[in-house]
Amino acid sequence: MRRAGKWEYDAVVVGAGLTGATIAQRLTEQGKRCLVLEKRPHIAGNVYDVEIDGIRVHRYGAHIFHTSDRRVWEFVSRFTGFNHYIHAPMANFHGRICNLPFNMNTFSRLWGVVSPEEAEEKIREQRVVYDHEPRNLEEQALSLAGRDIYETLIRGYTEKQWGRPCTQLPAFLIRRLPFRFTYDNRYFSEPYQGIPAEGYTKMVERMLEGTELRLNTDYLSRRSDFDSLAERIVFTGPIDAFFACSEGRLQYRTLRFEDERLDMPNWQGTAVMNYTDADTPYTRIIEHKHFCFGQQPNTVITKEYPMEWTPEAEPYYPINDERNSAILERYRERAGRQTKVSFCGRLGEYRYYNMDQAIGAALALADRLLKE
Ligand code: FAD
Ligand code: UDP
Repeated sequence: MRRAGKWEYDAVVVGAGLTGATIAQRLTEQGKRCLVLEKRPHIAGNVYDVEIDGIRVHRYGAHIFHTSDRRVWEFVSRFTGFNHYIHAPMANFHGRICNLPFNMNTFSRLWGVVSPEEAEEKIREQRVVYDHEPRNLEEQALSLAGRDIYETLIRGYTEKQWGRPCTQLPAFLIRRLPFRFTYDNRYFSEPYQGIPAEGYTKMVERMLEGTELRLNTDYLSRRSDFDSLAERIVFTGPIDAFFACSEGRLQYRTLRFEDERLDMPNWQGTAVMNYTDADTPYTRIIEHKHFCFGQQPNTVITKEYPMEWTPEAEPYYPINDERNSAILERYRERAGRQTKVSFCGRLGEYRYYNMDQAIGAALALADRLLKE
């Protein structure tokens, strides 16, 4: 990356989420002048958290940090400590409770089996064998876990979450979840896990120390002004919006969050309860205090209602189905031809990144920019 010269900044970074904050931190630390623009009134993007009644509430859905990437863990650990929260959510199917992810506790609850051998036998009976690689989420789930698990724990949740039949969804979505024949309820298998001790917003605030930041500022509404400030733009907003949706609109899933403050110390006994039946309109209920082992006399819960995205809503989940993948290819090709702009992040790359993957990709991009 060249010295500023005629430019006021070395880089304008669009978005103050984890991706933008990581890039800005790395460049600033190496003596580059960065300007971060964020259209929302706060930093931290979707990992933003706020205090309500002394309880830290994950404003845009539950966020549990987990990684096996040593570099990412060491990087975030410079800005925060982590507590020892280990994610082990529960599933509620019409009032019937099961452990997630799919493990011996789940199988035992569903079928009364005790040993891994009995569970494997049960799944062998139910598993569907295809003469091809699973072509969609339904085939993937049926070949991995069989009919009972698919019908009780997967189909209803997934179709609510994505608003599409499982036969039209990519198989990789379900491969995110562990499937094990041990009595191990940990949702994530990675060695480094936890919740930032003082929250994600504090962590991102520390990452952005020393970097100039403008909140409530939409890069796309004054693009040429901002382009004239720096030779390099890093864009972490939606890639289709950058190109004015000229190759077609990418689809996203969005969420509506409904909070309730309850006058009791413990409402559901776990941080996350997934509602896996098709009739309950929300996918999960978060009870935030359990992420931090809170002892407050009151509690805050949030119901998550998935919805189809509209331009007024926040785009949360990219939908990596065939239609969107074809459109994305065209944007990727155009992005590759840009010399001034780099695209990064869950929205900038339209990839279903976890936090650690977003940070890992941002660190790699910052390395490349610093070598330019
Ligand atoms: P964002 O956080 O989306 O940040 C992009 C920022 O750019 C936003 O703040 C946006 O306002 C801003 N922006 C966009 N356009 C413009 C513009 N034109 N001008 C200025 N600013 C702009 N990951 C995990 O590892 N563990 C979890 O438990 C987990 N749970 C999740 C739960 C939910 C409900 C969701 C939606 C995601 C979850 N994730 C989780 C994924 C995690 O949120 C992302 O990996 C991470 O937040 C991506 O960061 P980002 O900076 O790329 O994107
Ligand atoms: N899933 C499911 N039942 C559950 C939880 C998850 O079928 O109780 C499926 C669903 O298709 C979901 C995918 O597994 O989209 C990935 O789940 P994850 O918890 O990783 O989703 P996220 O936390 O990203 O919303």
